[in-house]
Amino acid sequence: PLELIIMYGGYQSTKQNLDPVYSQIIDYVTKGDGSGKAYKNLATFVDRFGSRKVGTQRLEDAISHLVSELESLGSLKVHTESFSFEGWQRGAESAELVAPLSKRLPMLSLGSSVGTAAASDSADGSIEADCVVVESFNELDRLGKAGISGKIVVYNQLYKGYGVSVQYRTDGASRASKYGAVAALIRSVTPFSIGSPHTGMQEYEPGLPVQIPACCITVEDAELMHRIYKRGDKVRVRLRMSCGSAGVQESRNIVADLEGSEKPQELVVVCGHIDSWDVGQGAMDDGGGAFCAMQSVRTLLEMGLRPRRTIRLVLFSGEEFGILGGNAYYERHKAELADKISFMLESDSGTFGPIGTTCSGSEATRSAYQQVLNLLEPIGATTLVPSTDGPDITVWAKSGVPVGDLLTKRAGQPDDFYFYFHHSEGDMMTVQDPAEMDRCVAAFAVVSLALADAAELLPRGISGASAGEDGLLSDWVLV
Ligand SMILES: [Zn+2]
Repeated sequence: PLELIIMYGGYQSTKQNLDPVYSQIIDYVTKGDGSGKAYKNLATFVDRFGSRKVGTQRLEDAISHLVSELESLGSLKVHTESFSFEGWQRGAESAELVAPLSKRLPMLSLGSSVGTAAASDSADGSIEADCVVVESFNELDRLGKAGISGKIVVYNQLYKGYGVSVQYRTDGASRASKYGAVAALIRSVTPFSIGSPHTGMQEYEPGLPVQIPACCITVEDAELMHRIYKRGDKVRVRLRMSCGSAGVQESRNIVADLEGSEKPQELVVVCGHIDSWDVGQGAMDDGGGAFCAMQSVRTLLEMGLRPRRTIRLVLFSGEEFGILGGNAYYERHKAELADKISFMLESDSGTFGPIGTTCSGSEATRSAYQQVLNLLEPIGATTLVPSTDGPDITVWAKSGVPVGDLLTKRAGQPDDFYFYFHHSEGDMMTVQDPAEMDRCVAAFAVVSLALADAAELLPRGISGASAGEDGLLSDWVLV
């Protein structure tokens, strides 16, 4: 049963009928004393700390600040878990179209890229070369070594959804390097642009003989260069990037437990990532997700609601640089926690208006979890999409732990509105909306409390299986 510690309000519930507490949570967050808090706290935080790239002192200061803030609430068990990694730093960088006309090309070096100095014969460390502009890897392969050697490859791939087009960002430099290219300029992976480059990770294939510099450019400039190139005119670019390895660095995940009253060793995890790219404010990716998850725990505290199982808030670090914190957390806890976590819910695809969540696992997992999502009917967030999404937690799905990612949508905007701002200078507080964030907080709070108080853990299951681990459809009931 739900144990109530009434501190500030008269929120009541009984074992027989838990529904009222969930609508009370929704009311408290969307129109009561809890409303507007996630937005206000996030704005205060990102306006103070700004962007938070892993490996920076600024991120570590932000983490320390959040730890103190969570500790000051008095009711959470808070600690950090550190991990180390091979860091990367951006340096001075610029790109310029030098022929057929001069134009500055707004750009951002991609994470893990080498700089231009090693291949430069100029005092400022820049390189200059003619470009080949391609639309696809097929076109690159057709040009081959004869067409590409010594050139800068410009990718002007069409946007076909983030998951499809992002391979040009991750693999573009390696693929071009094999044909002797000296650098890769990649059209930003976004469905919309007002002259803004969108950064992100790129990956050199293991054993690649030559690592070449890789950066993203704007959609507009990629199209411009492609048009000029197709007319048969020479496209020439000067590129200067002084990024490179930053040596071994450390960061920390934040773990804060709202301890369960009856089964403290069993967990429901709510999470987001606290690091961001070094552009904008990281207010959306993933300040919004991290702060909505955090505010949901604060909401339960404010309402005096104590769960039967422990609700654990994890704010991962190093997500943008290869899921560093998420993977470290998994390696550290998989043996101990794989059979003790009922569900993990992350938000890392925007905190617009929630419409539901993804859910991994078997049909048994999802039929059970749908009962929980149905509690979000008052805010219209009952949609369940089968998937192992949630970047920091997807690794747990292979251990059979059900995981989910909050699904949200800005009314009147396309589904991939998130990618308008993703990894760009546009990822500012301006993207966020207080009322939408409130509903995200409510979704986190209701889902986590319902699962923490349910009689049983959610049925385990590997994605694709039609039944639970025991081969039977579950009789799991939300009570
Ligand atoms: Zn993210």
